[in-house]
Amino acid sequence: MSAAKKGKLANYWAASCGGCEIAVLGINEKILDVAEAFDIVLWPVAVDAKVHSIEKMADKSIDLCLFNGAIRTSEQEYMARLLRRKSKVMVAFGSCAHEGCIPALANVSNREEIFQTAYHDTPSTDNPNGVRPQTETEVEEGKLYLPLFYDTVKTLDQTVEVDYYLPGCPPEPERIWDAIVAILEGKLPAPGSVIGATTTVCDDCPRTREEKKIKEFKRTWEIIPDPDICLLEQGLVCCGIATRAGCGALCPTVGSPCIGCYGPNEGVEDFGARMMTALASVIDSDDPEEIERIIQEGIPDPIGTFYRFSLAASQLRRKTLEGLDPSGASA
Ligand code: SF4
Repeated sequence: MSAAKKGKLANYWAASCGGCEIAVLGINEKILDVAEAFDIVLWPVAVDAKVHSIEKMADKSIDLCLFNGAIRTSEQEYMARLLRRKSKVMVAFGSCAHEGCIPALANVSNREEIFQTAYHDTPSTDNPNGVRPQTETEVEEGKLYLPLFYDTVKTLDQTVEVDYYLPGCPPEPERIWDAIVAILEGKLPAPGSVIGATTTVCDDCPRTREEKKIKEFKRTWEIIPDPDICLLEQGLVCCGIATRAGCGALCPTVGSPCIGCYGPNEGVEDFGARMMTALASVIDSDDPEEIERIIQEGIPDPIGTFYRFSLAASQLRRKTLEGLDPSGASA
């Protein structure tokens, strides 16, 4: 794209850790090529842009929006809707926007429980007056506003229409650059696609795989794994079998099991269900009681193990909210 035909790029950061914004800088000097191709109209970590400037822009005047983060508050929902309206191409960038990721693990509780813990119960909380965040507070100077904190964390595509997904926690810089090049060259896959590989982390993993027959699952701190053999065969819960490739199998290569941050592989609807099926087939027992013991002792946190990145996007989505809309639309 020549300077005369510069596009407009927006990056936004909703419910996420900020790592996705930093990951964009991981493309190193290629960021200069991005700056040559695009005017960056919004990028909270790097550019002093204002929301009211975006509000004044014509609809569809932003060529590309890389939106990272899940939707947890009314402000994030407002920004998702605003940026969707202003952008030609909306990319759910990173695991939080794609699947909910770590913020969506809070879907096992609700706002009341989260506020009770955060503002009252933690050992480090000193809150003698029981103050909690309010959406409106009167002060001498006028009214102060805070966004509404929703009961349910949603993915970006549960809030607005998404054109493409770039998975990862965060996406690897090489994959970010591949996506930017595909966008610049107009070589994007069909709308609604995940930009990236269709193989699994296992396909990229250099470890030797033989027959998996597991009598016990182990936590990572319990063993020093053999450097060459598949970690799952050694009893570590490695999610490479269900996880989309794209990271270069970085974790299993250095002895740490894949935790699934690139999300489900092509065709897998529910990451946790796929993992549970895979693990069920490698447990070496026909005895239901023994199978239950192996799972309970080796996998003490099933939600955190199987839905660490994908709870909001999963078929479970959240714990039932008594009296509230289970779609999570209720605040
Ligand atoms: Fe797959 Fe993990 Fe085994 Fe590598 S170590 S082959 S990623 S299950």
